[in-house]
Amino acid sequence: MYIPELLAPAGNLEKLKIAIHYGADAVYLGGKAFGLRNLADNFTPEEMATGIAYAHERGVKVYLTVNSYPANEDLPALEKFIAEIAPIPFDALIAADPGVIQLIRELAPHHNIHLSTQANSVNWRSIRFWEQQGIGRINLARETSLAAVRETAQKCSAELELFAHGAMCISYSGRCLISSVMSGRNANKGECSHPCRWGYSLVEETRPGEYFPVMEDETGTFIFNSKDLCLIEHLPEIVNSGVASLKIEGRMKGIYYVASVVRAYRAALDALRDEGDGYRFRPQWLEELCKISHRGYTTGFLFGQPEDVGQEYHSAYLRSHLFVGIVAEQLADGRFAIGVRNRIKCGDSIELMGPAMRNDSFTITAMTDEKGAAIETANPNSRIIMSLPAGTAVNDLLRTEKP
Ligand code: SF4
Repeated sequence: MYIPELLAPAGNLEKLKIAIHYGADAVYLGGKAFGLRNLADNFTPEEMATGIAYAHERGVKVYLTVNSYPANEDLPALEKFIAEIAPIPFDALIAADPGVIQLIRELAPHHNIHLSTQANSVNWRSIRFWEQQGIGRINLARETSLAAVRETAQKCSAELELFAHGAMCISYSGRCLISSVMSGRNANKGECSHPCRWGYSLVEETRPGEYFPVMEDETGTFIFNSKDLCLIEHLPEIVNSGVASLKIEGRMKGIYYVASVVRAYRAALDALRDEGDGYRFRPQWLEELCKISHRGYTTGFLFGQPEDVGQEYHSAYLRSHLFVGIVAEQLADGRFAIGVRNRIKCGDSIELMGPAMRNDSFTITAMTDEKGAAIETANPNSRIIMSLPAGTAVNDLLRTEKP
């Protein structure tokens, strides 16, 4: 059975390493401009070269997003940017705007081009058009149904990439002005401030200034708040539809999100490859995806229009676990250095997450600072030393259950 590529977000070098550690086949990243998600950390050209060398040594592909829609006045800087990244050996550049595609052809003609979801491709005629422009892969808009994916794969030869997991917009694949209007930050230039996730009140037209709270639960209401896309329960149908790549959204999310989502989808895809017709979905994969911050899950447009079931009316963000640290280094004496991200203390119950769904639970009995002095509590951004269960590897993550 053909198993599609698992494509993960890499908002910075650390996220790139985590995505690879947990099983991504490819990662996508952005430069400091023109790649949407302008508020993610993103990469300098030097970091791009470092990240690509790291990924290619491990057989992982790297794609660069250049998928914003530039205005005329942005073009000189964009030309400079493309000329600068042209020698970097990306496996493909991801673009949406035809002008940007033309510019890449002129200044970096040796690079493959993938079409971004920002181009809103939802039908096979559109895919065929882009195919005829020499585009080798097209990311389908999130509004595409499984039936449309299947038909498009039969009628077109370009590779198809499908979003499998991550945030959804209430607008048409990010073509949204709410952020520009409410915060002056342009979503189509990667600066979205996510006002669709904010809380809102009710105002009657003749009583300006009188705000009536709308309460659907103790956290308020979230009338524009889409649930997050999660297709992990439907991988056999999706794989059979002919997609070449399954994409995880979230370059602005943290390493705990990247690790959790990549490893769950990796486990499911590996099981599908190994078990074929005997494959069965494991609830543990979905349970793992519920341990990260999310807004409830939906299958989006996969089985048709989601209508109101795609909205999360009942709460803001949900999560059951808290990310507390990353295994940074194994020392000569067998203990490990941990980069602490949230406060931990002796007596805390910790779960250590490794690739291939390895979870090891233990209680912290002792830890020291870097100079070897025993400590009871470790604060965020400190580096501490402790013993960890057998099988622990650098880049494994530590988490605790939320009270
Ligand atoms: S405000 Fe919400 S719907 Fe609009 S682009 Fe941003 S995330 Fe998408």
